[in-house]
Amino acid sequence: MNPSKFTSVDAIPSLVQSLRDTFDTGVTKDIQFRKQQLEKLIQFMDENMKNIEKAIWDDLRKHKLEANIGEVNPVIMEAQYMIKNLDRLTQPVSTTKRFAMNSLDKTLIRREPKGVVLIIGAWNYPINLALLPLVGAIAAGNCVILKPSEVTGHTAELLANQLPKYLDQRAYNVITGAVAETTALLKERFDHIFYTGNGHVGRIVMQAAAEHLTPVTLELGGKSPAIVAPDADLSVTANRIIWGKFFNTGQTCVAPDYVLVTKDTVEPLMDAFRKSIINFYGDNPQKELSYGRIVNQRHFDRLKGLLDALDKDSIYFGGQTDRDDLYIAPTLVGPLKTMDAEVMKEEIFGPVLPVVVADDVNAMIRMVNARDTPLAMYIFAKDPNTYHKIVDNTRSGGVLVNDTLMHLQEMSLPFGGMGASGMGNYHGDNSFYTFTHERATMIKYPGLEGVLSARYPPYNEDKEKIMYLLVYGFNTPRSMGSTLRAVTGFCSAMWRFLFSKKKKE
Ligand code: NAD
Repeated sequence: MNPSKFTSVDAIPSLVQSLRDTFDTGVTKDIQFRKQQLEKLIQFMDENMKNIEKAIWDDLRKHKLEANIGEVNPVIMEAQYMIKNLDRLTQPVSTTKRFAMNSLDKTLIRREPKGVVLIIGAWNYPINLALLPLVGAIAAGNCVILKPSEVTGHTAELLANQLPKYLDQRAYNVITGAVAETTALLKERFDHIFYTGNGHVGRIVMQAAAEHLTPVTLELGGKSPAIVAPDADLSVTANRIIWGKFFNTGQTCVAPDYVLVTKDTVEPLMDAFRKSIINFYGDNPQKELSYGRIVNQRHFDRLKGLLDALDKDSIYFGGQTDRDDLYIAPTLVGPLKTMDAEVMKEEIFGPVLPVVVADDVNAMIRMVNARDTPLAMYIFAKDPNTYHKIVDNTRSGGVLVNDTLMHLQEMSLPFGGMGASGMGNYHGDNSFYTFTHERATMIKYPGLEGVLSARYPPYNEDKEKIMYLLVYGFNTPRSMGSTLRAVTGFCSAMWRFLFSKKKKE
């Protein structure tokens, strides 16, 4: 996207203020309004389907099947889900009271919108990562500023030009721009910031949010391992890892970043990987429409640097590159004996798959635990004892046994990281809750002032006995002795308390 089309930095404070004014009118809290806006979002997707596919193709040369299953369909399905479930999700929920003296009162959790929220998208799924959180924010009743990634300029331009034609512009705004515009946005006060991208910028976002004590969701990345146990079915495992790795040319936050496998299995597994790559992308993936491109020259150079840093004989398969075409072939690296290679330091985020040899499953667990908590973990094993052992002894944002990526598509599951891979989560009901404030609400019974006045000073022993029973009910703490003693103590104390009150009056 041409920077001349970016939103003016000077206009940002007043744009945010205008959304705050809209939020204060209460219009976005109306459930029908929310549903209408979600319908409009679906209409935007339907009517612009071809343009969306084209923009994603122009940005990433992503096949339309990948664009549809990875970007368009999840957004439409999520909007439909929210429309269907909004009445349930917005219903106040009453709680089971634990304080005896509140037994006549009403206690509710009201699910209220947080206010004006900022969503900052990333480039690798430019529609999905912008619009999926937007669905949750609209459903929860917020006003939203959406800042798509400037790296995928065609998609950002499409969103900026078309989306406002569908959504109520008083409540939802698309701001385009790069670092300067995002920095200006982050100076403003928001009621929630939802950021997707790398951990370096994640820290910048969190620092800016701290200035206003704004809560954040950080959807970050990291090195997600694929652990292959010795009993795994190697040809199925190979298909599923290769599919998940090279989907979107390896530019997926939950792509398997590297593979851990034992010495006995490594050769047959690498051979199975090679066969899967040829089956999926042919002898020349550069000519295959199912295989995409690296998003830009900066990321191409970064990935080429990783390949150049390897010993030539550690490239097992692939390794061809073409800078003018932003092409890097599906590449297998290994078998590596240690985790020290350059390619094992940072998240790869491209079509390079290192395979590392480990002694056994216990060693694999130790190797994973020695690193930052990954966003995803994939385990391939037939024996439930094996995969349960790995799940029980490791940590990750999400875990998927015997496949890759699919846990992300299953939106009944929360999606988010832990530690360096992020904080908070979304998808389905969790998206709604992310953008919702749970407001504790209590409606007190106005009567019984006579009894309840035992809580007012000046305190004395009778008031203390009454308060114990009003607080704990018949679940008296041990210090009060038996229930019977507590009840008789309460009755006599109450008698004296009410009688002495009457006398004073
Ligand atoms: P990116 O370059 O698109 O940056 C993300 C956003 O941050 C953009 O909107 C950009 O304008 C903004 N930004 C960049 N620099 C900034 C700065 N200095 N100050 C303020 N804002 C700034 O995307 P990226 O960071 O290259 O994304 C790739 C990373 O994101 C990978 O680590 C990947 O794993 C992770 N990711 C995570 C998820 C997830 O859902 N957890 C999804 C996709 C990508």
